[in-house]
Amino acid sequence: MKRAVFLDRDGTLNREVGYIGDPAGLEIVPGAAAALARLAAAGYALVVITNQSAIGRGIYSRAQVDAVHARLVAELAAGGARLDGIFLCPHAPEDGCECRKPAPGLFLQARDALGIDLAASWMIGDTVKDMAAARAAGVRPVYVTTGWGERDRAAALAAGLPADDVVPDLAAAAARILALSAPAE
Ligand SMILES: [Mg+2]
Ligand SMILES: [Zn+2]
Repeated sequence: MKRAVFLDRDGTLNREVGYIGDPAGLEIVPGAAAALARLAAAGYALVVITNQSAIGRGIYSRAQVDAVHARLVAELAAGGARLDGIFLCPHAPEDGCECRKPAPGLFLQARDALGIDLAASWMIGDTVKDMAAARAAGVRPVYVTTGWGERDRAAALAAGLPADDVVPDLAAAAARILALSAPAE
């Protein structure tokens, strides 16, 4: 079993700009690839966990999301980082699925597909939903104030997030995880 860092997408890996149906709309946050490469070097699998309800709402297609993800993978690879998986919820909120964050379903899918030890894993995200989903899966969350993070900060703290687990961005989140991690086996 391997440990993982789960990554929210919008507002965490790339700038929060609303629905992204076109790869041209994807803007990776500064320092993301280098931060992910450091986590991978420490023995963490890197797994994106993202709600993409625009598919279920009929705003754009699964193929469009796949094209956005192809660009995400390519840009991170150009910076020296390789993702181990991307797990997405395509459902609308009213579908009542078990994978839309704050439900933990995507974490459980990733665990089963990739053999991940959730108790040894982390999640980086910018919303209260990310934090709740991680906790429901038994994964420790770290909260970034990019994306919706500044807006949701008070609610995240009120929900029990330790203040030390609130950091400015993905690079700072990676640094915090590495500082608290045992060396890779
Ligand atoms: Mg987000
Ligand atoms: Zn779902």
